[in-house]
Amino acid sequence: MSLKPTYDQSHRYLATPLDSIRGVGPRIAEKLARLGIRTVEQALYTLPFRYEDRRQFTRIADLMPDTRATIFGEVLASTEKTTSRSRRKLFEVVVGDGSGSLNLKWFHYRKTWIEKQYPVGRRCVVYGEVKQFGNIREMHHADVEFLAAGQDPNALIHADPLNFGRILPVYPLTEGLTQKSARKIWKQVVDHYAHLAVSPLPVEIQRRQQLMPLDEALREVHFPGPDSSLKELDEGCSVARRTLVFDELFYLELGMALKHRGVILEQGRAFKVEHVYTKPLATMLPFRLTEAQRKVLREIKGDMMAPHPMNRLLQGDVGSGKTIVALMAALVAIENQTQVAVVAPTEILAEQHFLQFHAWMESLGLTVRFLSGSTTASLRRQILQDLADGAAQMVVGTHAVLQEDVRFAELGLGIIDEQHRFGVLQRAALRKKGNHPDLLIMTATPIPRTLALTVYGDLSLSVIDALPPGRKPVITRIIPEARRIKAYETIRRELAEGRQAYIVYPLVEETEKSDLLAATEGAAFLQENIFPEQRIGVLHGKMRPDAKEQIMRDFKSGAINILVSTTVIEVGIDVPNATVMMIEHAERFGLAQLHQLRGRVGRGAHQSQCLLVKSGLCSEDGLKRLEVMAATNDGFKIAEADLEIRGPGEFLGTRQSGIPDFRVANLFRDGRTLDQARQEAFRIAEDPAFLTADRYHELRQALKDRWGERLELASLG
Ligand code: ADP
Ligand code: MG
Repeated sequence: MSLKPTYDQSHRYLATPLDSIRGVGPRIAEKLARLGIRTVEQALYTLPFRYEDRRQFTRIADLMPDTRATIFGEVLASTEKTTSRSRRKLFEVVVGDGSGSLNLKWFHYRKTWIEKQYPVGRRCVVYGEVKQFGNIREMHHADVEFLAAGQDPNALIHADPLNFGRILPVYPLTEGLTQKSARKIWKQVVDHYAHLAVSPLPVEIQRRQQLMPLDEALREVHFPGPDSSLKELDEGCSVARRTLVFDELFYLELGMALKHRGVILEQGRAFKVEHVYTKPLATMLPFRLTEAQRKVLREIKGDMMAPHPMNRLLQGDVGSGKTIVALMAALVAIENQTQVAVVAPTEILAEQHFLQFHAWMESLGLTVRFLSGSTTASLRRQILQDLADGAAQMVVGTHAVLQEDVRFAELGLGIIDEQHRFGVLQRAALRKKGNHPDLLIMTATPIPRTLALTVYGDLSLSVIDALPPGRKPVITRIIPEARRIKAYETIRRELAEGRQAYIVYPLVEETEKSDLLAATEGAAFLQENIFPEQRIGVLHGKMRPDAKEQIMRDFKSGAINILVSTTVIEVGIDVPNATVMMIEHAERFGLAQLHQLRGRVGRGAHQSQCLLVKSGLCSEDGLKRLEVMAATNDGFKIAEADLEIRGPGEFLGTRQSGIPDFRVANLFRDGRTLDQARQEAFRIAEDPAFLTADRYHELRQALKDRWGERLELASLG
């Protein structure tokens, strides 16, 4: 008879509250609770954030500054002192081991107690971080263990194996809980509960992926065995950690796979590609589609022709030509007597899309409507009518399109731009407006592949991975504020050649008092003092929509040759003759934003430039961002750097995007494991029996426990 608990049993035991562990009283329990550690399971999955190697002693003479080390020595002197500068009291102990001496210092101590601890001649084992001041080496608040008279230091290691003679875990903790007591607590948790952590992961996957059993992995990751590699542990690439990461990501991807399968299995419309409109459009275009555009268009058409709803993410760097691809897809839907809704996150972007789609659609004899929050009531009524009776084949707009009373005669395709600002709910809202319509989601913000797989894991992915031909990479330079005049000279040269310029300010907000020149003030200043002979226009978020549109038209036609603006031009504006962009206070912008902004230039055949004006108060991260921009034009590299600087949660801007909090996995590090977990998960989810067969019962249960709610996997029994 096996003593191994079932999945359900162990799941219950792991929910044991931490205060039932010996050594965890109410005070410590509360401290841990503040870190989100309330149950033994949560403790098991709170991994050390680094390790300390206490397997051997270092000679004092061999100590290296800024490393942690264990030494064995004898007290040579001890005394209370006062620092010369701040008049602070400190207690100093000098220890020696024959090779050299080391000063131990305490700044917080009880004098009567500490004096008794360090009589001259007492032998001790000391662990801490080595600091070097001149030729004096010190450790502050070191961990010290004393030897009994005549005791051998190796005997101490045997007497206290939890704290010496091994690689020790270091936990992320709050004040008031020492590493030593934490180690004691975690040791008990691991000893008594790790064996309950079982994963119903099928054995053949475990074998194929060379994983350890889950409980062994937990033991190893908390209390590494004597032969473990410190380097592997610190870099997070030990087999034990990989096992835990795989286990976590596998269930996430299994959930994604089921959602994906659910969408595929739904009945949808099988479009026919008739070329009624797509052929004429192709002949009207002033360019040929690139191979990259044709490839993603084939993928999209493939989905549209299949009898299931499309759920596809179209990803492509700024300027890669997504709009025309989306238009082609729209025409396929329209050829099949259905309608198309295009939704963008901001009014200005929606307008921009409208202008682009409108021009082509009109020349094909089709009707497009624009709908936003600022559409007047009477016009809105007319538009809703046109959509409801099918007189309009397309609507382009903002959130306003998603409102309850907007109805379609037959919605065949929904296109959402800039998905990361919308989220799952908007997708669902659009889907509900038709009878299983196809969905195409476009994102201009390049998302690192690992993140795309988790956040958009239930979507298929198409990537436009090359820019249209003839584009010259934008030359980007960082210009210190004091040399701003250089930037003006560059702009003047470009204007003299007949080109146009953008000058961007961070924000326009009277309440935001500061050293920032708001766009309007900036424009007035430039007109008066720098470019009196030029035609300057201003664009900012507080303007009325028709005023914005007028300015954008004037810039496009060349009636204006310098466009001063806030970040409203971040997305959508398309003026190939604009070849220079100057960004004020560039260090205040995020990387994604800078990349989007820069994407407004470099759209034509002429060489373009981006001038990042850096203020004197630039932070370290700010400078790092500017340097990344100067170093590359590659949106994917920029996104990776952004992810690294900011971390995934902030990178995506919002929590509603569905980015999960991981217990163990780190998307930045664990991309490969994510891929492997995804493959295995999708393979299992393909089994038609997955939702019903007994052999998958525990797997389904584990999936439901871990992700059921967050992924809205209601169908899991
Ligand atoms: P995105 O939306 O991906 O940022 P756009 O669709 O706005 O990019 O396209 C950027 C510019 O490139 C537009 O001026 C568009 O007309 C042009 N363009 C698109 N495809 C091609 C192509 N195959 N060859 C040349 N120019 C193209
Ligand atoms: Mg675009």
